[in-house]
Order: sequence, then C-alpha cells, then structure tokens
Amino acid sequence: MNKIEKVNTQDPPALGKRWGDPLPNMAPMTPSEVVMSPMFRETPKATGLKYIESTMLEAVGIKVDIEGTLAFRWMMFEDGSGVAILRDFTPAFFKFATCIHRFGPQVKIGNCLHRKTCEICTYSEEVDSSG
Ligand SMILES: [Zn+2]
Repeated sequence: MNKIEKVNTQDPPALGKRWGDPLPNMAPMTPSEVVMSPMFRETPKATGLKYIESTMLEAVGIKVDIEGTLAFRWMMFEDGSGVAILRDFTPAFFKFATCIHRFGPQVKIGNCLHRKTCEICTYSEEVDSSG
C-alpha cells in the first residue's frame, strides 16, 4: 500500500545556509548509484531546492556542462546522505553527505542485534546479524 509521509522542506542546518555553496561532500553520481541509493528504499527526511553557482562547484572539483546559477532538487535521508538532481535538459545526479560516518565498534543490544554509532555525528543504526 502506498503511504504518504510528511517530509521536512526546511533546509537542515547541516546543509549550510550560504547561497550558491555546494552541498556538503558533494560528488557526481552515476545513474546506477542513484538506483541503488536510499532514494528507492526510504522516504527522505528532508527535501528542498538549492541554488549553486557553477564556479563554486568547480572550486570543489565538480565539472558541469552549464555555467551560472544552477538549481538542484535535493533529498536527504535518515543517515544524512542524499541525492541531488541538477535541473537541466539533461539532468545530472550528485551525492552528498552531512557526515562521512566513522563507525565505532558495534555494541550488542539484543540476541542478534547490534548498534553502531558514528564517532563524529553520533548517528547510529542497528545491525541485525541473524541473517
Ligand atoms: Zn557521522
């Protein structure tokens, strides 16, 4: 059954408020990476439009075919990772992440259940090892 969930459309503080800046840890993404991303498994926890200057993208090593102010539709997932789509006649896909997680040791919280927590941002996820 289809379920419609409410999605936050305010820019999370972690995305930065400066107009024209790239998204954090932004990098090109292939169409197959998009298909394998959380975009097809999870409802985004936040989404929005961000305007990024092509010169600011070049400054972080991202080359795009068009110049000027570019519009990106972005979707961010529970773990702070996200997908951004460039609005153009030939859309281009980018990934970003509010944190490059560094998980500490897994902690046993149940019979076959462990929790791993990022040492940088404290994001945690449960890992079921029962297979
Ligand atoms: Zn993290």
